[in-house]
Amino acid sequence: MKTVGLIGGMSWESSIEYYRIINETVRDRLGGLHSAKSIMYSVDFAEIEALQHQGRWDEATEMMIAAAQNVENGGADFVIICTNTMHKMADEVQKHIRVPLLHIADATAEQIKARGLTKVGLLGTRFTIEEDFYKGRLVEKHGLEVLIPTEEEREIVHRVIFDELCMGEIKQSSREQYVSIMDHLVRRGAEGIILGCTEISLLVGDEDSQVALFDTTRIHALAAVEYALEENRGEACLEK
Ligand code: GLU
Repeated sequence: MKTVGLIGGMSWESSIEYYRIINETVRDRLGGLHSAKSIMYSVDFAEIEALQHQGRWDEATEMMIAAAQNVENGGADFVIICTNTMHKMADEVQKHIRVPLLHIADATAEQIKARGLTKVGLLGTRFTIEEDFYKGRLVEKHGLEVLIPTEEEREIVHRVIFDELCMGEIKQSSREQYVSIMDHLVRRGAEGIILGCTEISLLVGDEDSQVALFDTTRIHALAAVEYALEENRGEACLEK
């Protein structure tokens, strides 16, 4: 089994989910007392959030590179950045480490294509939704059509992520706002919706949507397990 290197803490509310999903899946796949080999570098999210909102992306990039190098030096065989937003600097991070970085948008796009969908709605922070590093990758690399919420809706989605979900607050009123934003995307033609922020699945689930939801936290965590176990098929049997 390969050792997964997680860059977490953005926020830790979702890093817990990564850790849980990765370990539960390894246990289910290998049985018994098996769990994932992992190493996490967890940041202070207040520092990251300040850099994001002040547009100090160069400093944020330096921090992500240092975190990735830390997990690599600690023995990680590959790295995952446990947030969609901080994939803004994913290419730069990859250039500074020797081990592979599994990109959250690639893992998500593979799932969307496997379901035969081509037109999807995207929810996430303003950075993820409005800039090209994420949407552009889905469109150019994976040939998907991506719909984004209106300006007013984007403001709501962004505010709920930072003011509530990243602080562990789950509110019914915000769930209702998200449901109506998702419904609007569906009325505009979305065949599925990407929960493109790793905390959104704490707020809404399949029961809240008319179309398939693509939960990037779960998809990314499962992709990490898939990669970690790639060369270990049959390991459970051998170890019995
Ligand atoms: N976890 C969120 C995401 O997936 C937002 C936190 C951040 O800005 O990194 O984008």
